[in-house]
Amino acid sequence: MSKDQLSAKEQSLFGKSKNPSNIMPQKLTLNSRIKFRCHPGVSCFTACCGGIKIVLTPYDILILTKRLGIPAHDFLHLYTLPTYLEQTDMPGVMIKMREEDNKCPFVTPEGCTVYSDRPSACRYYPVGMADFHEAGHKEEGGGEVSGADDKFYFVVKEDYCKGHEEDKEWTVAEWRADQGVDLRDDMNREWLRLVMRRKSHGQQAQLSEQAKRMFFMASTDLSHFKRFIFESSFLQTYDVDPEIIEKIKEDDVELLHFSYRYLASSLFGVQDPGFRIKEEKIQAKVSVMKQEQDESVLQAIRQYEALKADMDELKLKK
Ligand code: SF4
Ligand code: SF4
Repeated sequence: MSKDQLSAKEQSLFGKSKNPSNIMPQKLTLNSRIKFRCHPGVSCFTACCGGIKIVLTPYDILILTKRLGIPAHDFLHLYTLPTYLEQTDMPGVMIKMREEDNKCPFVTPEGCTVYSDRPSACRYYPVGMADFHEAGHKEEGGGEVSGADDKFYFVVKEDYCKGHEEDKEWTVAEWRADQGVDLRDDMNREWLRLVMRRKSHGQQAQLSEQAKRMFFMASTDLSHFKRFIFESSFLQTYDVDPEIIEKIKEDDVELLHFSYRYLASSLFGVQDPGFRIKEEKIQAKVSVMKQEQDESVLQAIRQYEALKADMDELKLKK
């Protein structure tokens, strides 16, 4: 696989990429019919659960940590490896394949042990969706314009996957409902949009290391992000609706959406009334800047006076 190609499950998660040969050329709609069935009787059962890059979304991590009953920090350490998302410089994580057989740590001969909580990429596969997370752009004044609304679906077809030879026929909508992807769409949309926005910006505007660390922390470890919100000077700096503060204290899904909004605002300058810097903070900053400016003017005057005195002295000596 070239470095520009995404693995089959990444394609299903992030959408089409440079028309690799395993993507069927038809653009499908929700009403299009596909033939596919995956079940323990197929000869390739679990073949797609090894030797593959499975990128985890923040919601995947949240759900898997709840399923396994371990903190995100332990989950990341035990089950993931760092990666870059969608050929950008955005840091994320992917499932760490087992050393002994290069398979997903959650697979057994009987199938997936976390099936009802499996990651988004595993649910979407082999039907990907192009566009809902395409980058929007900023209009004058900082408002966001969503990406193009040319939504379509496509099938990823790997030679080893025998599910395409099964007789079961569905519409794309029926397949998606069966896989429970609508909820995943809702939970992943804003995060995927951040990644696609970064991709569409290219590398011309580098993200600082600090910004990348913030993106990684908010995307992979919500409890860490929560500590950042409640234990740093964040709430003294930003005006946040008290109702939202109460919600994110109690509800991890609310916290997840809050983290996406914060990242969009702090990393990409998306205007969000929920993240206004407090007036007194702005005033304090302005006053410091003014003081620095006054100081540099005084410094320039002092240098000028010193130079002038030197010149006068020289003139007197002549
Ligand atoms: S999480 Fe489950 S479905 Fe996904 S690769 Fe691992 S075993 Fe397979
Ligand atoms: S049919 Fe396809 S999706 Fe199902 S186990 Fe085989 S390779 Fe994986």
